[in-house]
Amino acid sequence: MDGKALGERVRAGVAREVAALGRSIGLATVLVGEDPASTIYVRRKEEACVEAGIETFHHELAVDAAEEELLDLVLELNQDERVTGILTQLPLPPQMDEDKVIAAIDPLKDVDGFHPTNAGFLLLGRPTLAPATPSGVMELLRAYEVELEGANAVVIGRSNIVGKPMALLLLAEHASVTICHSRTRDLPAFVRAADVVVAAVGRARMVTREMVKPGATVVDVGINRIDGKVVGDVAEDAREVAGLLSPVPGGVGPMTIAMLLKNTVKAARYQSRTLAFPGR
Ligand code: NAD
Repeated sequence: MDGKALGERVRAGVAREVAALGRSIGLATVLVGEDPASTIYVRRKEEACVEAGIETFHHELAVDAAEEELLDLVLELNQDERVTGILTQLPLPPQMDEDKVIAAIDPLKDVDGFHPTNAGFLLLGRPTLAPATPSGVMELLRAYEVELEGANAVVIGRSNIVGKPMALLLLAEHASVTICHSRTRDLPAFVRAADVVVAAVGRARMVTREMVKPGATVVDVGINRIDGKVVGDVAEDAREVAGLLSPVPGGVGPMTIAMLLKNTVKAARYQSRTLAFPGR
């Protein structure tokens, strides 16, 4: 599954939608500290915004900044009408409580979809702003017409950012979902029975060719750096047995950025009430 090509199509669609909005929309990015990976991710997201006609407002805080400073910035961005989306790049340094910071973001500006309100609507089967990475996986599965209704789907990983929302999005499409994680007793047995596998762990090549059921759809979310090379959680030769496979790089990564842009437009539409946010 070619996430690069599909991601470009989605981004072009977003650019057309932004142009048709007839008003400017803007994403505020907040980077705390100078972690090299986070710095690259934020820069890529900002570049993608600019390309789609979305304004960006870059904010940086020192790695030793107080939590209060970040909370004040978030509250300021909540009030700023030019800012229609707020993204706080994770992870945050240890003196900051991520849950508290995420909860401070206006749910209608929460383009990452991590706010308890948006997570709650996802749990209720009414996705509002859903996290970008699992949304990107769903977009890939849709584009390649993968049958989800009644399918056995196995999600490996249970983080709030990828694994859990992934499982809920698959459930909303009527898959029969199993979540595997670090305490799962017999991971290979679960994977062998799966029609759809989503690997989101962060362990290089942990899903081997032998585990994959012939013809299954395999989505690799993992990003692992081995000897300067980026590899996924799925062994390269698994593609020989899989029916469809989304590779690393070139699969979910580009989709994540595309879905962030989609969320940024959706958030702006919630705020302008051209799209109804439940309960508002
Ligand atoms: P995380 O560390 O928060 O969660 C990892 C999960 O894997 C945990 O729930 C844990 O229970 C599970 N796990 C650990 N060891 C396991 C094992 N041996 N067997 C089964 N499960 C095990 O990570 P995350 O934030 O969810 O990210 C997962 C991976 O996806 C990472 O490699 C990350 O870099 C990547 N990622 C990619 C994108 C993208 O845009 N492509 C976005 C986010 C995360």
